[in-house]
Amino acid sequence: MKASKTSATNEHSISEVESRFAYRVSTELETIIARTGKTSPVARQYLPDIRELDIIEAETSDPIGDHPHSPVKGIVHRYDHRALLKITNVCAVNCRFCFRKDMLGTADESLDSKDLQAALDYLRAHTEINEVILTGGDPLVLSQRRLAALFETLSAIDHIDIIRIHTRLPVAAPSKMPDLTALNLPEDKALFIVLHINHADEITDGMKNACKALKTAGFTILTQSVLLKGVNNTHEALHNLFTALIKMGVKPY
Ligand code: SF4
Repeated sequence: MKASKTSATNEHSISEVESRFAYRVSTELETIIARTGKTSPVARQYLPDIRELDIIEAETSDPIGDHPHSPVKGIVHRYDHRALLKITNVCAVNCRFCFRKDMLGTADESLDSKDLQAALDYLRAHTEINEVILTGGDPLVLSQRRLAALFETLSAIDHIDIIRIHTRLPVAAPSKMPDLTALNLPEDKALFIVLHINHADEITDGMKNACKALKTAGFTILTQSVLLKGVNNTHEALHNLFTALIKMGVKPY
């Protein structure tokens, strides 16, 4: 799907936006946007906007200050007992508001097998870490084989009690979900999915089925939402989203 183009100037600028920040949506999102319109809350999250080219001085390449807490590539260890493992810098879609969008898909930020071993060695060596957050990018874009290997490794690290996966895949591209029920997941660790969802219009049958499969696999599902102007910055939008999620047995967090 192409972005909305209303004038020659806008068309020129939109192509500049697309060359600066990658544009990618899924067929599921295309369907929602076709139904809700190109200025709808869902469309606003994914269609390029010329305002993305307004880069202000305060914007930095490390907006939440990860770099000082990154002892090895792919790890962010900001709090004693918890560490992020940025397992991939690839996503199934590109959200326009993403604060990591400069890093997505770049060679600099991707982990090769040596980097991954060093990151896993760090987790093994730091026995104070009891919670690992798999993030990225979107960890669930990894192949079934790579996810199986990752879980096998994390399962064998005794001091890790909690594995949390931050993902947008069940919302943005549910047909691309790996089958986590087929993995050998650890029974002695708490497994959480934190689903990124911002508007009730993102709830589809595909998303509901993906959540059911995640629950069957043994995950507790929580959600996180980004407060976005023109998308969900009203009481009504958030109320509709949160009540619909609770009805599904998914807890806004
Ligand atoms: S899925 Fe998450 S990491 Fe990927 S572009 Fe969207 S907000 Fe960023």
